[in-house]
Amino acid sequence: MPDSPAPRVLRVAVPSPLRRLFDYRPAREAPPGGWAPGLRVRVPFGRREVVGVVVACLDHGELPLSELKPALACLDEAPLPADWLWLCRFTARYYQHPLGDTLHQALPVLLRQGRPLAGRTRERWALTTAGRDAGPEALARAPRQAALLAMLAQHPHGLASQAILAQAFSRDQLRSLAAKGLIERQEEALSAPARPDADHLLAEPALPLNREQAQALAVLHERLDAYHPCLLEGVTGSGKTEVYLQLIEAVVGRGRQALVLVPEIGLTPQTLARFRRRFRVPVVALHSGLTDHERLDAWEAAASGRAPIVIGTRSAIFTPLARPGAIIVDEEHDGSYKQQDGLRYHARDLAVARAHRHAIPVLLGSATPSLESLALARRGDWRHLPLTRRATRHAPAALELLDLRGRRRLGGLAPPALEAIAETLDAGHQVLVFINRRGFAPTLACHACGWLAECDACDARMTLHRRPPLLACHHCDRRRALPEACPECGSIDLRPLGSGTERTEETLAERFPKVPVHRIDRDSTRRRDAFEAVLAEVRRGEPCLLVGTQMLAKGHHLPHVTLVVVVNADAGLYASDFRALEQGAQLLVQVAGRAGRAAHPGRVLVQTMHPDDPHLRLLAERGYAALADRLLEERRAAALPPFRFLALLRLESAREEAVGELARRAATALRGWLAERKLAVDCLGPVPAPMERRQGRYHLQLMLGAERRSTLHEAGAWLAAWLEATPEARRVRWSLDIDPQTL
Ligand code: ADP
Ligand code: ZN
Ligand code: ZN
Repeated sequence: MPDSPAPRVLRVAVPSPLRRLFDYRPAREAPPGGWAPGLRVRVPFGRREVVGVVVACLDHGELPLSELKPALACLDEAPLPADWLWLCRFTARYYQHPLGDTLHQALPVLLRQGRPLAGRTRERWALTTAGRDAGPEALARAPRQAALLAMLAQHPHGLASQAILAQAFSRDQLRSLAAKGLIERQEEALSAPARPDADHLLAEPALPLNREQAQALAVLHERLDAYHPCLLEGVTGSGKTEVYLQLIEAVVGRGRQALVLVPEIGLTPQTLARFRRRFRVPVVALHSGLTDHERLDAWEAAASGRAPIVIGTRSAIFTPLARPGAIIVDEEHDGSYKQQDGLRYHARDLAVARAHRHAIPVLLGSATPSLESLALARRGDWRHLPLTRRATRHAPAALELLDLRGRRRLGGLAPPALEAIAETLDAGHQVLVFINRRGFAPTLACHACGWLAECDACDARMTLHRRPPLLACHHCDRRRALPEACPECGSIDLRPLGSGTERTEETLAERFPKVPVHRIDRDSTRRRDAFEAVLAEVRRGEPCLLVGTQMLAKGHHLPHVTLVVVVNADAGLYASDFRALEQGAQLLVQVAGRAGRAAHPGRVLVQTMHPDDPHLRLLAERGYAALADRLLEERRAAALPPFRFLALLRLESAREEAVGELARRAATALRGWLAERKLAVDCLGPVPAPMERRQGRYHLQLMLGAERRSTLHEAGAWLAAWLEATPEARRVRWSLDIDPQTL
């Protein structure tokens, strides 16, 4: 049914977990441009009033008009941007998420609450493809409409409504042509600055590019007006950011906008400062630290085109752009791009879909690309742009494997690592000790009977902390006082098992009393400025030891670190998840990239119990790309992503039987339906989730796999519908995860 501007029914997406839309009669007062999809409306919903978004304007709904409630008010003068609405619809469909909730999450808080959006746009009309193709006979009986169509045909970029109405055409004629699909309404940003002139765009000159950077940029310049996915693969320090900056320069120079996504941990003041130093035009940042008003302001600046450059973390992918010119995704492999609850979207994948829709380039950069992106680049679907050298002097340090077997360890560190640390400090340099476990020790053990401190609510051990002394579960945040004696046998011989950041810090402080030891983890940096203060001190360059988790591995430039020690490479690499090797290797390479960025070459020691493991050897000897090739072969052989598409149904409940029963019924129902429809989707499970009991709840899962996205999609949609229609499912929390990152 086409959208008609004077509809009798508004189909509205309201924020609700229900996968359906609701019909209303239009509010008494219509917005100035008539009813259209994308307008926010206040509607009665149950006993509440909520803010919904009109997604269709119809002449008839499913219910008789008399049974429909009227919308209470229209909250916008003009619809929210059409491309934004498209993106939300795409996201809801692809991730099998209710549209109402998707729209809700994609809006800044103040807009969700119904706050008005300042009218900063002007309405325009332009021919659609059908309109361009329509012959004169199409409107033989409507001469004024035919004349209007002919006039618009002379303006390929469309005309403002004012200009059209000034030619004695009427709104009715515009609406009729729109209803026939011959013309479409567009919005023009009013306050958008004129195209910045090239001489005034840059605040500092761009760097002269090296050969590979120049080649990459040339490829990007070739197709600025088309969908053009490119993978920029280069080690840390190879000059990717400089390529981003110069692509943005070209895009903004043409009067378009650039959207840059960075991982959560990467949107540091330094990153922002680097972008702001380069450009004279505004650079708007969207991150978790903004107030609601600042966020709305940034959103409006992007939507109106006032902000030529928008940088943000995951959710910034939903920022509307008046004149999209390019999307850049830095560290495209980073896990923070995938939202792990509610609407489980992947911002990188949405960036690619969005670039396709806008017909603009999308540049994905990484030192360690995801296997998904590498597979596309190797197949030639995406352009592969390698940067193999560091822009600065030194080649990235190779990984040296350090065999832990049979070696005594002190605070997790084997003697050769301690020696290397001493040498580095003596030479006046800095050392980074990477350990992906915060706390003092992974757990507390009884030496007499073998008892281990376990969480009551999770299938997990509790971590021992020293400052303050307590046991904490890192999965549910439960805390417990340290027991005086073993609760099982009464022995007082309780000892920490293994090492965490606190213990390594303590050991190093005793061993190297003359240099400062800085610990960087979630516990030591609860305050953002504490973290920044340590980084500032470290950048001054005096010899010191840094002990840290992932927080230190990413995004931070530590020019004086020349030795990196990885305390335990095995924990990450040999987890059960099929992506563990990929993600573990990415992290190792990233940590290694911290070493030797400035004047001195670096060294990276990787402690492991498996120095002969072929994957680890391959990574150490031939690098990430070689390992990635091998992993891709293994994934192909095992029929896993990127060679197969997966969806995961997760079910959880405090009641073990309830979740088990529902999971079994869902699996049976789905298998029956698949067999009947002869759909090539396999269904594995239900099986317990890797940690079955978490926060006192039982977690089960059902995995769906298919060779084609579309078949998987059909099965997922059917399963979601079945669950919605099954009363027992209301007592179990469930979610569908499309392209899950962890199983
Ligand atoms: P990446 O984003 O790949 O980590 P950057 O773009 O941050 O790399 O570059 C690393 C360092 O090298 C930065 O200090 C940057 O200013 C410098 N750099 C990048 N490209 C060049 C170049 N063409 N000439 C000189 N220095 C460069
Ligand atoms: Zn005991
Ligand atoms: Zn717990």
